[in-house]
Amino acid sequence: MSTFQSARSIAASVSTGESSAVDVVSQHLARIEEREEEVHAFNLVLRDEALQSAERIDERIAAGEQVGPLAGVPIALKDNLCTRGIPTTCSSNILDGWRPPYDATVVSRLADAGAVFVGKTNLDEFAMGSSTENSAFGPTRNPLDTSRVPGGSSGGSAAAVAAGFSAMSLGSDTGGSIRQPAALCGVVGVKPTYGAVSRLGLIAFASSLDQIGPFTHDVADAALLLECMAGHDPGDSTSIPQPFPSLSESLDRGVAGLRIGRIVDLPSGADADVVASVDRAFEVLADAGAEIIDVTIPAFTYGLTAYYLIAPAEASSNLARYDGVRFGSRVEAADTNSMYMATRGEGFGPEVKRRIMLGTYALSAGYYDAYYGKALKVRRLMAQDFATAYESVDALVTPASPSVAFPFGSKTSDPLAMYLCDTYTIPSNLIGHPAMSVPFGAGENDLPIGVQVLAPAMGEPTMFAVAAELERSAGGNHV
Ligand code: GLN
Repeated sequence: MSTFQSARSIAASVSTGESSAVDVVSQHLARIEEREEEVHAFNLVLRDEALQSAERIDERIAAGEQVGPLAGVPIALKDNLCTRGIPTTCSSNILDGWRPPYDATVVSRLADAGAVFVGKTNLDEFAMGSSTENSAFGPTRNPLDTSRVPGGSSGGSAAAVAAGFSAMSLGSDTGGSIRQPAALCGVVGVKPTYGAVSRLGLIAFASSLDQIGPFTHDVADAALLLECMAGHDPGDSTSIPQPFPSLSESLDRGVAGLRIGRIVDLPSGADADVVASVDRAFEVLADAGAEIIDVTIPAFTYGLTAYYLIAPAEASSNLARYDGVRFGSRVEAADTNSMYMATRGEGFGPEVKRRIMLGTYALSAGYYDAYYGKALKVRRLMAQDFATAYESVDALVTPASPSVAFPFGSKTSDPLAMYLCDTYTIPSNLIGHPAMSVPFGAGENDLPIGVQVLAPAMGEPTMFAVAAELERSAGGNHV
């Protein structure tokens, strides 16, 4: 359970003038000052900008204006979200010196709701990884135990909330990059339905999988933040042209009468303490009136292999644009081809190069059908299997991460071991469904465990009802 003030109570006290936005931001900046050297959650702290926007909010409130539901709430942004005039690096050397000419849609929506941006957070380079050890700027540490990773790729955003550097943060989730670090840092993390949140201004990793979502101290804050940023954006052609459902009634709905599925053929590999927490979650939900129903999702097991073809394939195409001509750094060379090679050779780190090579291979003539084409068939099967399961249940519950936070370096020499962190999170990305991790129980060394709640597309209201119930029974913040 988090000891920090919720964003809801910050916004309430700033809006009524009970506390000033400047004081709230200063408190958070003071915590950053105290621990950031040790944690390294940020690539850039926006100290002056944050204080200035807090001052403007206080002025507007003094003038009797309504500022919005996030009035004065300090928020950290993953450094793959474009911020106008402010460096946006994806934790890669290849974007060195680049300043986006526009704000991501989520950034402008949160600013309109009164948020104050305190910094750009560290990530695995181009969001590829599960530990934030792949950053070109050095790793982020888990604030709960600095000998361990915060998870990834949104490790900086998860750590910023867990350390009290910001009340909320944004991450992106392509295969688990919000839910897994949320689990490892003991905070709430949500991957919304694909298309629920605009991707305009999110630097693409794998466009058919990427979604932006919240990290918060509790479930109600996650609902608030998601409601502020979701909804149709004509600037993203994959954005759902429908209003996003309200989540506020879900928080106190309870789970009475809900049918919650237990996937009996879930891939193994989760540690015993994680399995025990998930078992306990089912007990708690049953006690609260849910019906627990066994379901099978045979294709779940193939998610990891399909993802590690589809995501690198899309990445190899998306990352082709970083060639020293339009963005970031260039390494000069005798002719254009040598310049491309030198720029990409120096600009990208080893994991990004590995993904580009895997993806290029999977898409190449002669291999396309055997690899990429086959992975797309698995994706279709996955969607069918989930659709069948959702004929008999309203939501599903699984582990978020197979383990609690692991020590630095324990998986860096074995990319496959790192990829296995994504076993339980990937299927939701492949089929575009929402999923979230909520802190529930503790494991080895008292480190937090995240339980994952899954629901069908646009099923966020049900998903939040289940997560809120788990949080209540775990003694979480929901006040
Ligand atoms: N860990 C996964 C990967 O490395 C997921 C990353 C993500 O969701 N951005 O691809």
